[in-house]
Amino acid sequence: MSITLEGLTEEQREVVSLVRQFTDEQIIPVASELERDDIFPDQIVAGLKELGLFGFTIPEEYGGLGLDLTTYALCVVELSRGWMSVSGIINTHFIVADMIMRDGTEEQKQRFLPRMATGEMRCAFSMTEPEAGSDVQAIRTRAVRDGDGYVVNGQKMWVTNGLRSGLVALLVKTDPEAKPAHRGMSCLLVEKQPGAAQDGGLTIPPQLGKLGYKGVETTELVFQDHRVPVANLLGEGEGHGFQQMMSGIEVGRVNVAARGVGVAQRAFELAIRYAQEREAFGKPIAKHQGIQFKLAEMATKIEASRLLMLSAARKKDAGERSDVEAGMAKLYASEICHEVVEDSFRIHGGYGYSKEYEIERLYRDAPLLLIGEGTSEIQKLIIARGLLARNPL
Ligand SMILES: Cc1cc2nc3c(=O)[nH]c(=O)nc-3n(C[C@H](O)[C@H](O)[C@H](O)COP(=O)(O)OP(=O)(O)OC[C@H]3O[C@@H](n4cnc5c(N)ncnc54)[C@H](O)[C@@H]3O)c2cc1C
Repeated sequence: MSITLEGLTEEQREVVSLVRQFTDEQIIPVASELERDDIFPDQIVAGLKELGLFGFTIPEEYGGLGLDLTTYALCVVELSRGWMSVSGIINTHFIVADMIMRDGTEEQKQRFLPRMATGEMRCAFSMTEPEAGSDVQAIRTRAVRDGDGYVVNGQKMWVTNGLRSGLVALLVKTDPEAKPAHRGMSCLLVEKQPGAAQDGGLTIPPQLGKLGYKGVETTELVFQDHRVPVANLLGEGEGHGFQQMMSGIEVGRVNVAARGVGVAQRAFELAIRYAQEREAFGKPIAKHQGIQFKLAEMATKIEASRLLMLSAARKKDAGERSDVEAGMAKLYASEICHEVVEDSFRIHGGYGYSKEYEIERLYRDAPLLLIGEGTSEIQKLIIARGLLARNPL
């Protein structure tokens, strides 16, 4: 089974096929080795730049490809089929591009988007803190206006691309007394040097050790009287940061759903191949009904999550509200990804536990999708809140 491309335009088909080919030729053959040694995939990133993927949804007038979220999501499925960490390198970049395109001033668009479109400047997205993840409004990082700049103090946690990025969309409190708290939150576009050495009150501690999702770094960011120019406040005026980040994360959720589909798809490909090769009790295990039931359920779940993901992406592309749909797609695709990977692991028997087999990596990567861009519990709250708002008495 491979992701089918029916219902897409000629251009969408071509782009997705190109990324599929890139994944098969450039990512899958090297992913396991790079991941084992936690090596950043410079060569793959160079290829992504060449394909224009860093400017995927950025309008052509700013140097991007100007493509839609649906095509992007289908490309993320392909990249994640190869290695989930590769989609992690572009995910936060894509969210920040979306935020600048929607909420940035014209000056900010001109200043950042062209360099982002080529991948010369890559982006990170930072809300989470050591003591506040799901409860975003409980963050403590503070930005105080001082002349033509903000002075930032605080600590951020779990910043994917925190080391190599050149721009961080940073959620801060500009008015900690505001009630409700989200009205006192703003987003600063923090420019930094890619790499560990920073000037002026920004420290990047050594990257966090992780179960999976290796190759791409996840770091803390520590701000101590770090100055950010007022011109880098996203949009016009303070107090809009929470909404800006939430809108960014909404497209991010479609992206995580796409990752779920991609990782699950790969787990299925490995399982259906292995089930036909491995024999037990005198025949390939694929001939045992117990294994066939597993394969049937796996493929059905993947197809259902693919359709949910496409439905959310298409709604967003049509300019319709899609918070409920993006939440559903993220919730379902991440949960079934975890289940499908586990089933593939079981089909591999003892070999699934061996580092020699690709499923071992998928088994460690999949759980992140249950947590990143909002946990499953938080998705359910978002979905229920949206449903209640759409169905008042
Ligand atoms: C590898 C990795 C990369 C990440 N990258 C980024 C990044 O680039 N940028 C960024 O900002 N963040 C990032 N994160 C952070 C991630 O978004 C948070 O971990 C996530 O939102 C959960 O927050 P938390 O870890 O503080 O858990 P908590 O919020 O402490 O939640 C703990 C548990 O309580 C549950 N819970 C919390 N509140 C409720 C409630 N109201 N009802 C029911 N259950 C609840 C949660 O579902 C969870 O099961 C990353 C995390 C990881 C692991």
